[in-house]
Amino acid sequence: MMKTISSLSIVIPVYNEEDNLKLLHDKLTATLNSMSGEYEIIFIDDGSIDNSFSCLQQLAHQDDKVKVIELTRNYGQTVAIAAGIDQAKGDAVIFMDADLQNDPADIPLLLAKLNEGYDVVSGWRKHRQDKWLSRTLPSKLANALISYVTKVHLHDYGCTLKIYRREVLTGYKLYGEMHRFIPAYAAQVGAKIVELPVQHHPRRHGQSKYGLERTFKVILDLFTVKFLSSYAQKPIYLFGGVGVTLILASLLLVLLLLWQKFAYGLFMITSPLLHLAAMFVILGVQSIFLGLIGELLVRTYHESQNKPTYSVRRRLNIK
Ligand code: UDP
Ligand code: MG
Repeated sequence: MMKTISSLSIVIPVYNEEDNLKLLHDKLTATLNSMSGEYEIIFIDDGSIDNSFSCLQQLAHQDDKVKVIELTRNYGQTVAIAAGIDQAKGDAVIFMDADLQNDPADIPLLLAKLNEGYDVVSGWRKHRQDKWLSRTLPSKLANALISYVTKVHLHDYGCTLKIYRREVLTGYKLYGEMHRFIPAYAAQVGAKIVELPVQHHPRRHGQSKYGLERTFKVILDLFTVKFLSSYAQKPIYLFGGVGVTLILASLLLVLLLLWQKFAYGLFMITSPLLHLAAMFVILGVQSIFLGLIGELLVRTYHESQNKPTYSVRRRLNIK
């Protein structure tokens, strides 16, 4: 049996959202007070240049369940969320946006689903209220690609509204646009993940901070996620694999050239394939050495910080 959740931490990154914060706090408080259990609302001011911080100050003054972290500059949504995770004390952590596009009324539903025995419940904006061409379509394509590459099949990686058991969130640092890949990371250590359709509203105040360029960042991050998930402990399998393939290809080319020489009397030296063969050998050997350097890094990573290479769900008769 998994532990029943009795306290919640709501983590909300804020970047220039002055007109949304009061209403968001009202709605959140109404929902959270109607539920049993403890909660805290953690706002991370990600270097806002409007009045967001003074709004947060006011909220914190009125309500001691509101915790505020002010970052020194704009670090981006992922880092802001990471700062919130580090502060969170609840049994479960909920991420949501500050702009009221996510609906606080979904929180009880997410929690109920989590208590059915999941580690992660991921919101799915089934009826998304954003521009189709610049937002919804690229997001659909990205989701299909991420699902295919990570083998964790979710319709909506980009939806911020998700709930996690806190244990699932400890143990890795977040970089770039990577908050959306937390479910994929969690799945690697065996977390049980499920999706739940959630509400989605158009943004009422302020502007979206993102455009189409985010899709490219997400796709680049996907390379990192795939590399870390498949090869983080055995980089030589990837680099060595490429290296050996190149060297074999080079051998085949040389055989082909020899055959041409003896069967048809063609000079090897005049063929561009000889250059290609030489290049393949050089690249292949380098790739193998890169893999070996990778292996050194893996050992440094695990052994200098005593990081285990596995994660345990539970132990019996062992303290
Ligand atoms: N955000 C942030 N730092 C940034 C950009 C955005 O903390 O550099 C916050 C923003 O205030 C909001 C959430 O991240 O709470 C999502 O941003 P936005 O609504 O612009 O994204 P969209 O919903 O358009 O994808
Ligand atoms: Mg938004």
